Amino acid sequence: MSDCSRRSFLKSLGAAAAVSASKMRAFYGVLAETPGSFPISNVFPNCAPLAKNVFYPFSLGAIRPKGWLLEQLRIQAQGLGGHLDEFWPDLSSDSGWLGGPGESWERGPYFLDGLVPLAHLLQDHTLLAKTNKWIDWTLKNQAATGMIGPSKNDDWWPRMVMLKVLTQHHEATGDPRVIPAMRRYFVYQLEELTDRPLRDWGKYRWQDELLSIVWLYNRTADSDLLQLAQLLRQQGYGWKSQFDSFQYTKRTSAKELGLQEGKPLPEIAMQTHGVNNAMALKTSALWWLFSKDSSELGGVERQLTMLDLYHGMPTGMFSADEHYAGKNPSQGVEPCAVVENMFSLECAVAVLGTPALGDRLERIAFNALPGAFTDDMWAHQYDQQPNQIECTLGQRPWTTNGPESNLFGLEPNFGCCTANMHQGWPKFTSHLWMAASNGAIAAIAYAPSELRSQVAGVPVLIEEETMYPFEEEIRLRFRPARPVRFPVALRIPGWAKRPAAYLNGKAIKNVHAGEFTMVTREWKPGDRLQLTFPMKVRTERSYNNSLVVCRGPILFSLDVEPEWKKLRTRGMSADWELRPASAWNYGLLTKGGKFLGQAEKMHPANSEDSIFSRKGAPITLELRGARISEWETTDGVAGELPQSPVTVAGPEEELALVPYAAAKLRITAFPEIARSKKTVEEF
Ligand SMILES: [Zn+2]
Repeated sequence: MSDCSRRSFLKSLGAAAAVSASKMRAFYGVLAETPGSFPISNVFPNCAPLAKNVFYPFSLGAIRPKGWLLEQLRIQAQGLGGHLDEFWPDLSSDSGWLGGPGESWERGPYFLDGLVPLAHLLQDHTLLAKTNKWIDWTLKNQAATGMIGPSKNDDWWPRMVMLKVLTQHHEATGDPRVIPAMRRYFVYQLEELTDRPLRDWGKYRWQDELLSIVWLYNRTADSDLLQLAQLLRQQGYGWKSQFDSFQYTKRTSAKELGLQEGKPLPEIAMQTHGVNNAMALKTSALWWLFSKDSSELGGVERQLTMLDLYHGMPTGMFSADEHYAGKNPSQGVEPCAVVENMFSLECAVAVLGTPALGDRLERIAFNALPGAFTDDMWAHQYDQQPNQIECTLGQRPWTTNGPESNLFGLEPNFGCCTANMHQGWPKFTSHLWMAASNGAIAAIAYAPSELRSQVAGVPVLIEEETMYPFEEEIRLRFRPARPVRFPVALRIPGWAKRPAAYLNGKAIKNVHAGEFTMVTREWKPGDRLQLTFPMKVRTERSYNNSLVVCRGPILFSLDVEPEWKKLRTRGMSADWELRPASAWNYGLLTKGGKFLGQAEKMHPANSEDSIFSRKGAPITLELRGARISEWETTDGVAGELPQSPVTVAGPEEELALVPYAAAKLRITAFPEIARSKKTVEEF
């Protein structure tokens, strides 16, 4: 069986998911079971009786962004990410999380969940001062009962977010107030939950609190925390069962979900809700730490398989606008779902050690994440579409979202993403590297960065230099204070054909796509590791047998010329409409199973622009295509995607394809126009 057919075979079998995840554990379990104290600093391994992770994240601050990633974080800080609180009423001094009479639910905590890591990664004193204001208020105003947050809203849910904020703040600062405050809060919650159980959002997002429980347990070993976790599990929604026998295989609708204005969302609407699903992706992995029930080990892969099968998008996300929306690439997904999906993958890959989760993380991070924003990160969309031909005010075939949803703006449709979207890049940065209990340092995802830690008491600096995800090479430089022996685990992407690794210029054996390659040696100052992941243009099949063009982890989309029109100023930001100033209804020409006229064009790096922007993208592709006249605009979206292969089309033209995020108007899933019987094979 070839790799490709094996992959689709595994995909088609839900049961296989559990097998492959437990195999993975059996392989890496060796790392997890090594006895003795943890040999790497800035890492807190799980305390018994919790099961062991395969990898542990480093504390915030151990990994620093460099190169294009540093520039991307700076762009974020110079945009809404660093200024939103200066003009958005929900984050003003009126916020309930600052003691004011205003917004007292999730928006303050959501904003901080991104601002805290951003401020520390950039070591930006202005941003640090902003975060401290909110954290100080929360810590200084804890009630005598132990409750935290605004007294006028006692919902458990926003507190689950604030706990994640406090843990990150503690990792970066060691603030001695955090652990006692968290202990008091959890004691209070354990007493209170029986009478005031989880409801609505908290009931569906309970696993996000597990993270903070694990975090605190690893520092205090308070046995009450294990009891609290059990109670959350009892009261929380059983996500695993939803995907074990998955019922929601079609696009949903407001009617079917029973939505009524002004009423809370019915259970079915909570279960099919995009952000809930994205947060839920980590549930099985985290609950396994407590239950050690081996059936949980396949839960993450099972959820991904079901969502891919029925609602999968080329970006690695699933459609949800605002609920499951099927596979049509004109459907959308919101930034909250993108950043929460990324965070769930970061948590899940730590527990499970499955390299494919790293592949998925990169795919979302390098496409869907920057795709949701303007290049300067001053505006975002609520719903981004893989095939996005206009972003205008008007009704769209969303499942339940409103007419503003695909505008680029301050808070199109709803302000949750305005507050929550800031965690995407900072948390991606702080999960690039992880540690294993045998002393291995693991590369989970790749981007220019540096890691500072200690292995067996020896200070170690690892520098990573690359223009990946565009460049095929990644260069690692080891700078231990003195020679020290430890393994390095390198994730080799599943898409890489003939990947290679070189240690001080000498090829390493057994480098296989879709696995971690281990290199164990005594590392000396100046040692170099070079990874080469050849990025041949490849294709994947999507909705109606359409073609998706990929190179490495990047998707390439038709660059439809956008005409920007400011709709209105929104404080320091603005809302924008985009209309197409060039044709979009193209298919890609193939002959004898190959693209016609394929060429790669390299562009000089321009360090001031995001590498995901139109100006800053270092690579574009040229392919030949032709217009398909019957493929027309319907309700502001590309009409039904013609079934491939298509035979009738207009004259041949040269098409420019740019990285997905650079094309704010785009076609990503293309009809294939086959000039012969043989069609392009999926790689
Ligand atoms: Zn949102």
